Amino acid sequence: MRVLNASQSARLAQNFVPVPKSKTTKKVSEAAGFAKKLGFPVVLKLLSPKIVHKTEFGAVKVVHDEHELVENFGSFLEKARKKRVPVTGIMVQEFVKGTELILGVKKDETFGHCVLAGLGGVFVEVLKDVSFRVCPVKERDVLEMLDELKGKKLLERFRGKKPVNKKEIVKAVTGLCRLCKKNPEIKELDINPFIVNDKKGLAADVRVVLE
Ligand code: ADP
Ligand code: MG
Repeated sequence: MRVLNASQSARLAQNFVPVPKSKTTKKVSEAAGFAKKLGFPVVLKLLSPKIVHKTEFGAVKVVHDEHELVENFGSFLEKARKKRVPVTGIMVQEFVKGTELILGVKKDETFGHCVLAGLGGVFVEVLKDVSFRVCPVKERDVLEMLDELKGKKLLERFRGKKPVNKKEIVKAVTGLCRLCKKNPEIKELDINPFIVNDKKGLAADVRVVLE
């Protein structure tokens, strides 16, 4: 079994599921240069084989200008040193605004790859509000999956927010099945969150486990 880090996982998935633009580096000047190209805000993530849940470690931070980036880049490295965790690099990632979903794949002994989709946050953690299908799936299947969710209204026009672009979710979920057909050694894949708005949907955090 091999767990890929966030940047390796995103690289494996990116031809099938769109991911935010990102660069992983240990050099603050490179990080700052890339952030300027993207435009602020950007998200900084400390990547380490020892850190599975980045938020719990305090390893995810939205920064709004170069000064904030430099400051937080430094404190990430400092924290890693103090807590003695090895640093793969710091990821500078495009900031995406939208509704957070979870998408994923699990390889089942009987059914093979199965996809899941659900709403992020409390919907998945507390309500276990997710929907499953066996791969491959068609557009209609994905729309049905979304329709099964208890929280489905959050995908529609809600409190002044525009409806999300469901086509982007359809593309991502059908893409996940194609990705797994091409890479049958994928045992598990989690996208948490997949952030979708009225235009685009991007996999902001991808975690792949190979057999
Ligand atoms: P982890 O799950 O390891 O704690 P994530 O990469 O999922 O780390 O980041 C934690 C949270 O930060 C996400 O659930 C999301 O709310 C927010 N986030 C992460 N990446 C982005 C991004 N590119 N744009 C906007 N928000 C983000
Ligand atoms: Mg996550």
